Amino acid sequence: MPATERLYYQDSHLIEFEARVVDVTERVSGWTAVVLDRTAFYPTGGGQPSDTGTLNGARVVECIDDGDNGVLHVVQGAAPALDAIVAGRVDWSRRLDHMQQHTGQHILSQAFVKLFDAPTKSFRVLDQSCEIDVELANPTTDIIERAVEFANNVIWEDRVVTIHNVSAAEAAAMPLRKEPAREGELRLIEIEDFDLTPCGGTHAVRTGEVGMIAMRSWERAKGLTRIEFVAGVRALADYRRANRTAREVAALFSTGRDDSPQNAAQLIEENKELHRRVRALEEVEARVEAERLLTAAVARDDGTRVVSHVFGGAESSSRAADSSARDASGRDASARDASVRDASVRDASACHAAARTAESSARNAEFLKNVAHALIATPNTVALLASRDKDTARLVFARSADASGDMNALMREACALLDGRGGGKPDMAQGGGKDVEKLDEALNRAIQSLS
Ligand SMILES: [Zn+2]
Repeated sequence: MPATERLYYQDSHLIEFEARVVDVTERVSGWTAVVLDRTAFYPTGGGQPSDTGTLNGARVVECIDDGDNGVLHVVQGAAPALDAIVAGRVDWSRRLDHMQQHTGQHILSQAFVKLFDAPTKSFRVLDQSCEIDVELANPTTDIIERAVEFANNVIWEDRVVTIHNVSAAEAAAMPLRKEPAREGELRLIEIEDFDLTPCGGTHAVRTGEVGMIAMRSWERAKGLTRIEFVAGVRALADYRRANRTAREVAALFSTGRDDSPQNAAQLIEENKELHRRVRALEEVEARVEAERLLTAAVARDDGTRVVSHVFGGAESSSRAADSSARDASGRDASARDASVRDASVRDASACHAAARTAESSARNAEFLKNVAHALIATPNTVALLASRDKDTARLVFARSADASGDMNALMREACALLDGRGGGKPDMAQGGGKDVEKLDEALNRAIQSLS
């Protein structure tokens, strides 16, 4: 079988051609591989994806370089018969896109060589962008942008791109940007007074056809600098995406597109400050709560005050030691919880308490810890605190340094009863479980263990 004549070698703008089918092979996938005596289809290779198009109207979904066996056209649908003369058509928009990325890479790579003596080690055309890995010693955005600017000037000077077929001996005497990857006759791509490199890909006929190059991002990768860039139609598509995103962000701030970074930075600062203030208020809230509980707690014979309390849920229980807790207005210390279920309560403070309760279920664990910390700041204090949501019980046990009791052991016991997990240190432990019904029993046991 003779090798396929590669029409794209001489004319990258040829997209319609006629050829004779010299081989047809059924593939297990149900697709057919067709070999022609000549083709304008570029097969996958050299970092550039394959062309697509049609053969007599049937889709060519990929082309594969099979070396001396020619180019395999993977056809989906009715494949042409052996010896048939077929009309081939290459998808131009895809070809143009690939030529722009690929020729853009030649230009950008040479710009790095000219400016920084930094050769390109590899190149890939990805779905939406391209990558080159450059031996660039000290990359910065400024340095990379200088090369990109240089490359764009070469594009806008609209220099001629010429193809030369030369022998290996002739090539050896030429100033090639990179070593040829193959032996024998070589195909050289010359960009007028700028670049000369061996390559088998499809290229623009003049640099202006590349349109422009833009750098999307860069990073250090395996000792090289990996630069993501877009050329031509991809640069426009990328600009549209970036512009749309920037405008959407700006709309959120009701500001101009270019002002949104400043607005976002300001918002983040304000948010941090709000978080600081909320945390400070939460600590105040916890101290107030702790004081109420502590006031009501009765000291045991040994002077230790055991404060046990359950926050939240459908019912609130002030238990054992703090059952008589009342604040100055005579309301129960757990009014923040109790008022939720009392539909008849209409005063502002009760509404506030209800809101707080709903919100506090989300930050229950943090609230419990804050109250526990506030409680054990008082000497001789043990805090056995819990909260309940619909299906979760949370526990924090803590004691002041001078009080006795192993909080870790108590917590493990309580969590076992609640069908949950927990633990910690002798002076502070946390846990929780799913068996909310047994919460009272778990706390009672803990109280008894302490006495
Ligand atoms: Zn090339």
